[in-house]
Amino acid sequence: MLDLGGLRGITVDARRLLVTVEPGATLADVDRATVGHGLAVPLGVISGTGVAGLTLGGGMGWLTRSCGLSLDALVSAEIVTAEGEHVRASEQENPELFWGLRGGGGKFGVVSAFTFRARRLPPAILGGNFFYRHPRWKEALGAFDRWATGLPEEMTPIISFLVFPPEFGLGDEAWMVVGFAWAGEDHRPGLDLVEQLRGAAPPDEEEVGATTWLEWQAAMDGVFPRGSRGYFKNLSFSRLDDDVIDVLVGFLSEIAWTGTGIDLHLMEGAFGRVPEDATAFPNRSARYWFNIYGFWQNPGEDARLTAFTRRAYSLMQPSDEHGQYVNFMGAEAGIDAREAALQTYGPGAFDRLVELKDRYDPLNLFRRNHNIPPSRG
Ligand SMILES: Cc1cc2nc3c(=O)[nH]c(=O)nc-3n(C[C@H](O)[C@H](O)[C@H](O)COP(=O)(O)OP(=O)(O)OC[C@H]3O[C@@H](n4cnc5c(N)ncnc54)[C@H](O)[C@@H]3O)c2cc1C
Repeated sequence: MLDLGGLRGITVDARRLLVTVEPGATLADVDRATVGHGLAVPLGVISGTGVAGLTLGGGMGWLTRSCGLSLDALVSAEIVTAEGEHVRASEQENPELFWGLRGGGGKFGVVSAFTFRARRLPPAILGGNFFYRHPRWKEALGAFDRWATGLPEEMTPIISFLVFPPEFGLGDEAWMVVGFAWAGEDHRPGLDLVEQLRGAAPPDEEEVGATTWLEWQAAMDGVFPRGSRGYFKNLSFSRLDDDVIDVLVGFLSEIAWTGTGIDLHLMEGAFGRVPEDATAFPNRSARYWFNIYGFWQNPGEDARLTAFTRRAYSLMQPSDEHGQYVNFMGAEAGIDAREAALQTYGPGAFDRLVELKDRYDPLNLFRRNHNIPPSRG
């Protein structure tokens, strides 16, 4: 294993809106470096996550609808290949490698620097959470879906279902939480949208207000204690009608423990405008991304909570569109890597990724990942 954790340097070129990040940096490192310049890079929602893995697979967070994924903000990357060759990838230099890195992940070499295009961000964003108790979930999900139709892209909502750890003071029941961030300078249009949702689905509890980017980016950190165990699965879908809501609420109602969470990311906006073949990220048309994840501590829980995740995933599978988000996938024993990669990326992208693998890592040095085996592998 290669530990790049010591390489956390960040350079901000505020005039050109460019941010260069070394591979060991976390989201918090980047946010701290950019915020003083009034800039942000679109990253994820838990501040201790590594920028490198997040970006190479995708990168969904509070700016996804206004800026796209983290990998959409990538302008160039420096790579050390399996042969020790230093290569730069961008739209101009080695564009096919640049295509594959963005979604195909770290299968072709070690990325030693990422350069992102940042966006301007006001000193305070509007953020909030609407909390719903179980009896309101069905109604709230339907109202959310109607509210989200045509939603301005400065507003990124993420719905989560979970029992919060005790320090959140939210008891031991499972909550549906609609979190939202409005990244526009003027908060009034954002507050109007929040009011519309409040009218359509009044929450049982709520917290809404201006907050700093750094605070907002760390707000959910306490849910995932370092060293948590976990098993992830994901799929994408577009129809959140009564039938799908019934399926969702059916298995979500079983969650009575801290250690399993489910997020529904509303996509579309800037994310959805990127042509599907522009990067190796496999699906740009789905309206929602469904991600089920674990954050338990006790190894004795592995079998039960992994089985729950698998069952929830299989119940949602009839709604599944195409492609898998490689960053939200658990390791699966006994699955053929080629078949898994084919399902993850789809046949056209899979063939292009194998060609890249043949060119940059034909002996499959970088294989401890959701692998794309080279054609001779
Ligand atoms: C608590 C938690 C919160 C999360 N939140 C989000 C979220 O909000 N949004 C989201 O989209 N995803 C999220 N994820 C998923 C996350 O994107 C993946 O787990 C991702 O792999 C994390 O990358 P890392 O660099 O931290 O991990 P690592 O374990 O360091 O890396 C993961 C993989 O990425 C590759 N890799 C890493 N660095 C390099 C490099 N320099 N060069 C080449 N390949 C490299 C390797 O294949 C490595 O095995 C979350 C995960 C967790 C555990």
